[in-house]
Amino acid sequence: MNDAARSLDSLRRGACPSLPAPMATGDGLLARLALAAPLTPEQAIGLAALARDCGNGIVEVTARGKMQLRGLDAAGTARLAEGVGALGIAVREGLGIEVSALAGRDPAAAFDPRLLAAALAQAADVAGLAARLAPKVSVGIDGGGMLGLGGRDLDIAVSPAAGGFRIEAGGVVLGRTSAPVPVVLALLERLAAFGPRARMRDLIAAEGVATLGEGLEPAGARAPAPAEPVGRHALAEGWALGLALPFGQIEAEGLAVLAGKAAELGAGFIEPAGGRALLIGPLAAAEAEALAQWAGAAGLIVEPGDPLRRVEACPGAPACGSARFATRALARELAGLARGRSVHVSGCVKGCAHPGRAGLTIVGLDEGAGIVIEGTPRDVPTRIVPFDELAGAACRILESARG
Ligand code: SF4
Repeated sequence: MNDAARSLDSLRRGACPSLPAPMATGDGLLARLALAAPLTPEQAIGLAALARDCGNGIVEVTARGKMQLRGLDAAGTARLAEGVGALGIAVREGLGIEVSALAGRDPAAAFDPRLLAAALAQAADVAGLAARLAPKVSVGIDGGGMLGLGGRDLDIAVSPAAGGFRIEAGGVVLGRTSAPVPVVLALLERLAAFGPRARMRDLIAAEGVATLGEGLEPAGARAPAPAEPVGRHALAEGWALGLALPFGQIEAEGLAVLAGKAAELGAGFIEPAGGRALLIGPLAAAEAEALAQWAGAAGLIVEPGDPLRRVEACPGAPACGSARFATRALARELAGLARGRSVHVSGCVKGCAHPGRAGLTIVGLDEGAGIVIEGTPRDVPTRIVPFDELAGAACRILESARG
């Protein structure tokens, strides 16, 4: 299959774009990298150069902590794959497995999720599971530390429980085991047998959970853990600074300068994290503070309470050919008014920035901007506003919601 055919195949199956199978978007091909290990600052600088040389220079971190490079063509995609290999950046393929952030560095974690993730990945590869499961099926290994996987849409989650590992399927606790890998593999086999497009919630809706937890010991619910990566996090040695990229995006030049500054202050890793963030460390306390000051001045988000954290927006016009309006200018205008309400500004119904529900969604349609309350870009809007009246109308909606 050639690159174009592979991309079309990805779109048809709702697949996740990867390095070998990028996805066609409004601004060219998009390649998503699931990193197997944090980047060194030098690798981040090299990746920034690749983003500029092979694509349009835009680098993104997704809500699940993957990196994306945009604006590629077929030749650029091939050069990117070569360049990533030459930089020694390890990329995970196969079954989607997420681990909690700062794995191996978090003194609050009950176990190192990377070891379990590696054992599961190897067993899933041997069983050929990825090819038999829906592309978005994902397993989370939550070490139970400072930055958990709570809130993620995981088909299966493994987390620490007294005397073993808690197993959840579709958000429902199934029980506890001391041997999680065979249990997770058996659940994935059940899911694959149910259908190649099925998610765990589909299987549970059809068959219930009673038989899924057979052989497991009782376990309580997972303790809620903070999942906000932005801020300062104490490591076993030193600190990690978590900062978020406005709308999950940074220009290649900005990433290179950030990585250079991190290296200058002594950091050894830059880890993409869920919530469109980068965790940078280990740093001495004074250096972490210095980096926070520098990054804040550079327009990055360094405080969890920053209003931009509540607003999602896709690249919009003019970056994306499918967009009906300039999403991010409007999103910045609305950020200060959101006050705890989630806002999603989407250039079209595809909803790339946030496929889920938001308190207020504004979506570009052929006939104007659709306003959706407590829904997604694909829902029927409660009203449609002409684009030249959109900013005023959206501000009035948020102001009236504040009372
Ligand atoms: S949601 Fe935004 S980025 Fe995605 S295709 Fe539509 S306009 Fe383009």
